[in-house]
Amino acid sequence: MDVRIQISMVFHLDKCIGCHTCSISCKNVWTDRKGAEYMWWNNVETKPGTGYPTLWEDQEKYKGGWEKKDSVLKPKLQGKLKGLLNIFYNPFLPTIDDYYEPWTYRYSDLFDSPPMDDQPSARPISLITGKTIDVESGPNWDDDLSGTPFYAKNDPNLKNLTEEEKNIIFEMENIFHFYLPRICNHCLNPTCVAVCPSGAIYKRGEDGIVLVSQDKCRGWRMCVSGCPYKKVYYNYETGKSEKCILCYPRVETGQAPMCFHSCVGRIRYMGVLLYDAEKIESAIKSEDKDIVKSQLDLILDPFDNKVIENLKKKGIKEEIIEYAQNSPVYKFVKKFKIALPLHPEFRTLPMLFYVPPLLPVKAKKENCKLRLLESFFSEPENFRAPIKYLASLFSAGDENLIKDVYKRLIAVRIFKRWKEVGDLKDEEKDKYLKEAGLDEKELEEIFELTSIASIEKRFVIPPSGREEMIDDVYKFKGETGFGYKRKPERRW
Ligand code: SF4
Ligand code: SF4
Repeated sequence: MDVRIQISMVFHLDKCIGCHTCSISCKNVWTDRKGAEYMWWNNVETKPGTGYPTLWEDQEKYKGGWEKKDSVLKPKLQGKLKGLLNIFYNPFLPTIDDYYEPWTYRYSDLFDSPPMDDQPSARPISLITGKTIDVESGPNWDDDLSGTPFYAKNDPNLKNLTEEEKNIIFEMENIFHFYLPRICNHCLNPTCVAVCPSGAIYKRGEDGIVLVSQDKCRGWRMCVSGCPYKKVYYNYETGKSEKCILCYPRVETGQAPMCFHSCVGRIRYMGVLLYDAEKIESAIKSEDKDIVKSQLDLILDPFDNKVIENLKKKGIKEEIIEYAQNSPVYKFVKKFKIALPLHPEFRTLPMLFYVPPLLPVKAKKENCKLRLLESFFSEPENFRAPIKYLASLFSAGDENLIKDVYKRLIAVRIFKRWKEVGDLKDEEKDKYLKEAGLDEKELEEIFELTSIASIEKRFVIPPSGREEMIDDVYKFKGETGFGYKRKPERRW
């Protein structure tokens, strides 16, 4: 056993209201500068939809993630040798049109306009060329367009649905959508690291955060293609790649990242997971049908004495064990088993998990009126979002895994209804609890964690005390930011 520490996340999708506060707080702190205008380290997309950059899930187009041939795992993009031979040629990059052309407005048209009969308007100006543009897309251009032929109907996750199933979900009364906020998953087996010819991307040993060294990066952009989640971006001003840094200066002091802290829906949770690094190889090489189970098997029980001993032997601070035991992520993922990784079949072992959405519920048409089905909260088959679609997103196509999660989520609702409203019989409540394999105490715990948890319960982050090791933290402020010794410099 080789116990390691990973700072991990859970997003509860039923609670996301699509307000984009998370994206904006990240933008204002990290990517509000030249060369980074089009980057959204945190973005929120509408599902079904094509996302940002458009069609990012289509790995035939972008060659992201890993592929398993026989028992060998290779980056879908290319191996090391082929990477070196093709170093000046990478045709699998998203173009600026796949993201969007960032723009501002010529506000001077408003301020300097002479008196006239018509109201002046500010023209949109490209932030790249400085020329006037017609705005055609943006990072959340497809917000709420759940039934459209351009966005929803081209969602790659619909490919497993039959034509008939697709037609049904796009009928007016069956259309559904939910929001999918995305950041870098800080994967255990990140393809972005594997395909970088310069060795500029690395995963930090102390907390598992994946970073790009601005010193070593030479701008080959293999990482942009290699990341199947398209969460590495190229800064055309500095000639370097950049990505979500999980607000590590905040995390190091025990504070949640900006997008977590500002989240209006309180959908976000962060905590420590302990995992067994010796099991990574077998996990990434397992069959698609077993990949989620293998990933979850990597995660260790923080109450297990053997795990605690192994950590102590490594000289890791004892308080970390307490943080791991109180981790909300551990509770969601392992204890209650209600959170799953996004596209586990990309085999990067993402460390951001999602609680799939129960809502919206389905209605049926009767005499031109819509009525809720009687069992709208208790039968996954009656949900408006088809299980097959959710399985394509969160369980590599395994519908049973999604149904198992729903059994537990439904049990919480049935139990609370039985307790608070009192219109359900004891036998009915007991039936759902038995199916979910959870007792009343656990259901209360899930309810509290998902509904009313305080900030201290949602973010259980061990501070690393790194600032104590830096003599003068203000020395580099305003020039490069805390922690950098040199300004990133273009060398060619
Ligand atoms: S999600 Fe993050 S860590 Fe994972 S491959 Fe992409 S950039 Fe790398
Ligand atoms: S701030 Fe929270 S609720 Fe709002 S869009 Fe972001 S993740 Fe969703």
